[in-house]
Amino acid sequence: MSVSGVANVDRGIVLDEHNPYESMMSRFDRAAELLDLDPGLYKILRAPDKQLIVSIPVRLDNGELEVFTGYRVHHNIARGPAKGGIRFSPQVTLEEVKALAAWMTWKCAVVNIPFGGAKGGVVCDPITMSMRELELVTRRYTSEIMDLLGPETDVPAPDINTNEQVMAWIMDTYSMHARRTVSSIVTGKPVSLGGSLGRREATGRGCLFVINEALAHLGIPAAGTRVVVQGFGNVGGVAAQLLAQQGMRVVAVSDMYGAIYNSQGLDIDRLLQHVARTRAVGDFEGSEPIASDEILLTDCEVLVPAAVENQITSANAGSIRARIICEGANGPTTASADEILDRQGIFVIPDILANAGGVTVSYFEWVQNREGYYWSEERVNRRLKKIMVNSFRDVLRTSLTREVNMRTACYMVAVDRVAFIHRLRGIYA
Ligand code: GLU
Repeated sequence: MSVSGVANVDRGIVLDEHNPYESMMSRFDRAAELLDLDPGLYKILRAPDKQLIVSIPVRLDNGELEVFTGYRVHHNIARGPAKGGIRFSPQVTLEEVKALAAWMTWKCAVVNIPFGGAKGGVVCDPITMSMRELELVTRRYTSEIMDLLGPETDVPAPDINTNEQVMAWIMDTYSMHARRTVSSIVTGKPVSLGGSLGRREATGRGCLFVINEALAHLGIPAAGTRVVVQGFGNVGGVAAQLLAQQGMRVVAVSDMYGAIYNSQGLDIDRLLQHVARTRAVGDFEGSEPIASDEILLTDCEVLVPAAVENQITSANAGSIRARIICEGANGPTTASADEILDRQGIFVIPDILANAGGVTVSYFEWVQNREGYYWSEERVNRRLKKIMVNSFRDVLRTSLTREVNMRTACYMVAVDRVAFIHRLRGIYA
């Protein structure tokens, strides 16, 4: 029986283009239909396993008491411990965290690492908060979601506005409760606390590997390829640097404050120094400012949206002039934009494949923590490359044999792998 037998679900229909959970679901539905997924399994995979909402009271520096809201969602744990980052942002919502948790399930399955999917978030604005306030929020949030956490159950990592320091606080808080140091409770830690070499660069490096595969597949020479990067943080900044080092021309980049352009290619090493000094890409010598909403429409071969969700929508997808889109961010393209990009013949490397380098090296970090034996950076990067290249080829093969775009192929590979494990394990009653 196909999923069409399941009642009461709006299969494949996107009611609100900007709701990331609906975007995720409409892609999942399409893959489920093409896979002829069993209706019972369809129901299991459609809903998150667990959703926790917590209140986080914190005494601010000005003496006032503030209560922040935090979430931790497990989408699915069939393939292994729930894995996924924690973001701090005023825009965090439960719907967003649910979508991000499901994306982690599919992402881990696409690269075939033994994790399920989770995500967490705290509604707060780190730009306005002191280090002390951030530490208090992190520690109280960690203690509020403690029942979910554990090296075998749920392993957080960095995401938007969280970093190695935040991971160190999570590790310490958990370890204080456990009365021993538990380094495998979190990934993306400082290297001196058991973090993995190469983890910080892993997501951007993963983008490089899949972009190279896409260029080779399309017969576009890498040298001189024009690249545009939206978002100049941990993903976009590293991707830009590695792509430039390989001889590509990064002609435009943006951050949350503005965008810059140079048709000859920006000097990314110098730009990184400029950003370290001024905290923004604007006013970089040897560049001209462009409007932030122009960045995605800039003429180029490779566009890397590496900022936040819902950037490429039905409103601007028709004006995108790239040959390849490599989704460094989670959910940068709405489901309604997919078809428009297809019509233009744009080759999309979807988020759950393109940015999977981060969680792949998180897996390496977790393995190293549990082994108590640490790998060289060369070994980390070599193994990362192998996983990214093989995963790209698995997805491309499905795309070609099933005659579907890369997005649908990604979901088909992922959903099939998760469904296979569910069938093997059966249902405990
Ligand atoms: N936050 C990253 C992501 O969205 C990394 C997750 C992890 O390493 O667990 O993939």
